[in-house]
Amino acid sequence: MTIAETTVFEALESNVRGYCRSWPTVFDTARGAWLTDENGKEFLDFFAGAGTLNYGHNNPVFKKALVDYIMADGITHALDMSTVAKRRLLETMRDLVFTPRGLDYKVQFPGPTGANAVEAALKLARKVTGRTTVLNFTNAFHGMTLGALSVTGNAAKRAAAGVPLVHTTPMPFDGYLDEPEDFSWMRRALDDTSSGLDKPAAVIVETVQGEGGVNVARSEWLRTLSELCSARGILLIVDDVQMGCGRTGPFFSFEIAGITPDIVAVSKSISGYGLPMALVLMRRELDQWAPGEHNGTFRGHNTAFVTAEVALREYWSDDALERSTLAKGARIHDQLVTLTESFGGITTRGRGLVHGLVFEDASQAEKVCQVAFELGLLVETSGATEQVVKLLPPLTVSDDEITHGLGILARAVEIVRDGH
Ligand code: PMP
Repeated sequence: MTIAETTVFEALESNVRGYCRSWPTVFDTARGAWLTDENGKEFLDFFAGAGTLNYGHNNPVFKKALVDYIMADGITHALDMSTVAKRRLLETMRDLVFTPRGLDYKVQFPGPTGANAVEAALKLARKVTGRTTVLNFTNAFHGMTLGALSVTGNAAKRAAAGVPLVHTTPMPFDGYLDEPEDFSWMRRALDDTSSGLDKPAAVIVETVQGEGGVNVARSEWLRTLSELCSARGILLIVDDVQMGCGRTGPFFSFEIAGITPDIVAVSKSISGYGLPMALVLMRRELDQWAPGEHNGTFRGHNTAFVTAEVALREYWSDDALERSTLAKGARIHDQLVTLTESFGGITTRGRGLVHGLVFEDASQAEKVCQVAFELGLLVETSGATEQVVKLLPPLTVSDDEITHGLGILARAVEIVRDGH
């Protein structure tokens, strides 16, 4: 095939590309919960950049702040130099996020991706404790770099590492076993000097596993995990990369359980605008980094700091967004339950504005996503066998848009199940 015979994407872009295969069109513009392709076809976005666009595409408030900042020659790139934009962000984090929640975290800028935050969190936990083993959970997803992959479950993704992924031990996530998971194995293994489990530096957990299939951990399970860790001097790392920034209702997804992790990884929606940015939050006494011991060129992406600060002020000065997320989520849940009752072989689960439709016949989930795309709705699959259709609309989605999107989803299920 010559370049002329195919698109530039097929000719030049690596085979590694993925989403463009599920959604074979060329997107051009976006606003709120909508994307438009170059032919003018509109798609309702219940994918939201895999949780990066909690406040919608090109949110006009953030856009104005960003454009004003750029036009005033505000700093764009600054490594970890002090800047006015970073000062504003840190002050706003303190005043709107940490202080109201009684959190005494210090903030590390680890580089812009979720995997950057996870890598830094793992390194810090090992450095502080002087131990190497990290406990992770079945079906976990933490990113694609070696450390993050070593705590990720998916076999195909792990295999691509090309080297052994070591110094981690998987434990059953809540709901993984038929019996309710009560940590009897983990507790026994930790306390038995003959179990073969080295004392871990840390446990890393998602409160809701997004990529792993919308697996929701019960609050009591998270509380027990937290107690178990603190009683044994094991650091608890919550990966809030996908479920943070209000996705499950509160700003941090762990708030619902009343726990305070030792370290938190934050990314995706923290910049609000889809600009790359990540944070590692750590209990003050854990900040044992030496200057420059962990670094990176893109830790000071100041345009992201500008939109992050505006996002916090706009949406987290009160609890309006949290309440609307929970209300919209309850509505979606009820409608999905109705959908599952009309068709056998499907169940639903979720929290806040992350929901999954779980198909007994996994192949149907992928087909539903394909038909939904043709009908103008973007949803992706997740889970060990891609058996879950994951719904991740922007938190700013309107009631009419929810009705529209769920209508398309129901139609797609009908077409896949009944063939018409
Ligand atoms: N942790 C979680 C929970 C995630 O969902 C993701 C991305 N899907 C990551 C880490 C990795 O983030 P990134 O792709 O930005 O490296």
